[in-house]
Amino acid sequence: MASKAPQAYEVNANELTGTPEQEAYMRDIIDQFTIDTKYLEQVRDRFMLEMQKGLDKEGATIAMIPSFVEGRLTGKEEGNFLALDLGGTNLRVVLVTLEGQGKYKTVSSKSRVSEELKTGPMRNLCDYIAECVDTFLTEQGLENQEIELNLGYTFSFPVLQTKINRGVLSTWTKGFACTGAVGKDPVLLLQDALLRKHVPVKVSALVNDTVGTLLSNAYNKPNTLAGLILGTGANGAYIEKMNKINKWKGGKTTSDEMIINMEFGAFDNERQILPLTRFDNKLDRESINPHAQLYEKMISGMYLGEITRNVLTDMIDRELLLKRDENTSFAWSKEISRHWSFETAFMSNIEADNSADFSYTKEILDTNLSLHDITTTEAKFIKKICELVGKRAARLAACSIAAIVQHTGATQAGCDIGIDGSLYEFYPSFENRMYEALSELLPEVSDIRKTIRLGLAKDGSGVGAALTACVAARMEKVQATA
Ligand code: ADP
Ligand code: MG
Repeated sequence: MASKAPQAYEVNANELTGTPEQEAYMRDIIDQFTIDTKYLEQVRDRFMLEMQKGLDKEGATIAMIPSFVEGRLTGKEEGNFLALDLGGTNLRVVLVTLEGQGKYKTVSSKSRVSEELKTGPMRNLCDYIAECVDTFLTEQGLENQEIELNLGYTFSFPVLQTKINRGVLSTWTKGFACTGAVGKDPVLLLQDALLRKHVPVKVSALVNDTVGTLLSNAYNKPNTLAGLILGTGANGAYIEKMNKINKWKGGKTTSDEMIINMEFGAFDNERQILPLTRFDNKLDRESINPHAQLYEKMISGMYLGEITRNVLTDMIDRELLLKRDENTSFAWSKEISRHWSFETAFMSNIEADNSADFSYTKEILDTNLSLHDITTTEAKFIKKICELVGKRAARLAACSIAAIVQHTGATQAGCDIGIDGSLYEFYPSFENRMYEALSELLPEVSDIRKTIRLGLAKDGSGVGAALTACVAARMEKVQATA
């Protein structure tokens, strides 16, 4: 399934008429946010270099973490599994029934993780998760079962894995900052909380959401090479040959291939190549993890709205936007002056606006940010800025795919790439813009959509986690008989 997001309606540069100051400002902004093919190539080349560094040694910027998920799926995997997804915005508990032949059924429940839990003690967060699992099992009539259910725990933060169900959290990302978690094993912390509540569940696999996405895509698309997340954060995983993982010290494996969790959100933290603007720098400086996850901050859902807001407030400060009499301007700028008040979802809605006088854009700004009586000129500028930020994100994100495809030599034969995350799913033309960038980066490919097949792998963290728990069981069997 391709992304079902609507089309983006772009604003032509020659439509951007205003005062000479406004026009000059917009020209400069367009210049700063536009990335041409040559620049994309440089980003891609740097990305490939950094991938290699990560495969060669520990501690590289792109961490290239071996996932301990060995070998490929057969599509015949079967059974009942639980999956838990701590992804960023929501916590999900899923009961997955793998039926073989690439088919499955799921039932799930979703709850929000409060800011308090995200930044409080880790024990509270784990207790909360255990409670959600407990409630879910009760709802499904599974609370009293004899045999423990195996659970795949999708924990989407940088974890250095030591086994398929063991690892150590290296750092928090995406607005999480629980105390007592960095340097600890998230599996053990969760298992303890489950034991405290007598919940009959065994955490049998620790899964990064990218790895889960890759596996869920691979369950019915055997040529899957990589899984990507374009949601709150951004990251990717792909299948690598064991003999290319030069830093591997884990001894003999059950297969000659392993999935690598790249942790590519940290790409170019050294600021060698990414086309950072002052708006990106402002966002980075004001984030809870300055100087970290720089690539992620340019391409993922948590940040795009805030970058856009930074441009808009800059224009307001220069009196190029919302200039009215003093009282009105002050009242107006209240909401948009607040950190994170401009959501990435607003950009999606604005980009989809195809009305003649930008009435839909005006309405979105009015309803969500109390910006009344926006002029058509202003709406046009704002829409253009959303487009620039959104398009830059899609083009930069495509560099990672081109790098993976070229690194693995899959350009000719082609491959499937599973992608999960609200940005990819809902942002207008995000996929289209990625394909455009990919065809610029891979000019030798004649039909990019048929060769590098991007697709929504919607239930990566559910089905993928279940499949990982299944692979864990398979590996255990092979090891036991070896
Ligand atoms: P997670 O990454 O936590 O698993 P999602 O994939 O749903 O969750 O991504 C959530 C992120 O997607 C949020 O940061 C939000 O800004 C962004 N988002 C949500 N809805 C939309 C939308 N309609 N268009 C673009 N971005 C969206
Ligand atoms: Mg997710």
